[in-house]
Amino acid sequence: MCMDYLTRILSYISELDEYKFFTVCRSLKLNHLSFADDLLMFCKGEAKSAYLLLQGLKLFSETTCLQANRQKSAIYCTAMEASEIERIEQFSGFKREQLPFRYLGVPISPKKLNVVDCDLLVEKMTRNIKWEDLCRSKKAGGVGFRNITIWNKAAVAKLVWHIGCQKDDLWVKWVHSFYVKGRNWWDFPAPPGASWVLKYLCKVKNDLHQLDMANWSMMNQVYSIKKVYTDMRESIREVTWASGVWNRMNLPKHKFILWLGIQGRLKTKDTLFLHGISPDNTCCICGNAGETHDHLFFGCEFSKQILYARLDWTGIPCRPRHYSNG
Ligand SMILES: [Zn+2]
Repeated sequence: MCMDYLTRILSYISELDEYKFFTVCRSLKLNHLSFADDLLMFCKGEAKSAYLLLQGLKLFSETTCLQANRQKSAIYCTAMEASEIERIEQFSGFKREQLPFRYLGVPISPKKLNVVDCDLLVEKMTRNIKWEDLCRSKKAGGVGFRNITIWNKAAVAKLVWHIGCQKDDLWVKWVHSFYVKGRNWWDFPAPPGASWVLKYLCKVKNDLHQLDMANWSMMNQVYSIKKVYTDMRESIREVTWASGVWNRMNLPKHKFILWLGIQGRLKTKDTLFLHGISPDNTCCICGNAGETHDHLFFGCEFSKQILYARLDWTGIPCRPRHYSNG
């Protein structure tokens, strides 16, 4: 609500004739962004507009008693005259820092983000993701993402198989006449002078020897990338809860929350407390116990009431007593 008040003050300032927007924000009439207790304010690179924004912030502080932390505040200038920068430094009292800076791990820069900036961002976002888990089939407890490394091998293996069963194809004929020369393709090693493509095909052929493609081709089967992909993946035990999560009656958002919850990976307060993010681990609803997955879904009195009412409504007679990912 407080930030709503600040937005109203800054919107009022943006209507003043003396205030000038930062170029790309003019059409959106955007002069600030706020997230939780962080605030970014921006305007044209001139002292007058910056002064007006700070006056707005001052009014907000005097009304709400919320002060900007000077240690954590800074001004950032780009393509501005030195005299203007000096004036802003003087009346704001904030120190000047250089662009780019990082906010929530994202580089904030007046220029386009480069590859290195994006790499760091992607690395940060994907650091805690276990791709092997996500790439498992839904029946095996994953999300069913395709493992593209394995899929690529299965697709390349289609060419290996075409060579093996001597498909009527100009390229296959060329490989046989130029390299294989009547020998058995399934035992054929890539010669040192062979092209990169042939060397890679031979490598994939060796990697896939457990699938026994030699016999497979003799049986004249139709090659299916999907089937080979499935065969190449380790067989993983199926979970009992998959159909409860991924059935058509569930909303996508609920499916994902349930999938996380069953594996105990929701950001419950006991986890947040453990990582020093939450000051306590008490259940927000009842305040009588620690907020674990078990408590939140089955132990908490409020949750129980909802759950039992729902079970009665749907006519399901069971009474779950504890949380389990079996
Ligand atoms: Zn509770």
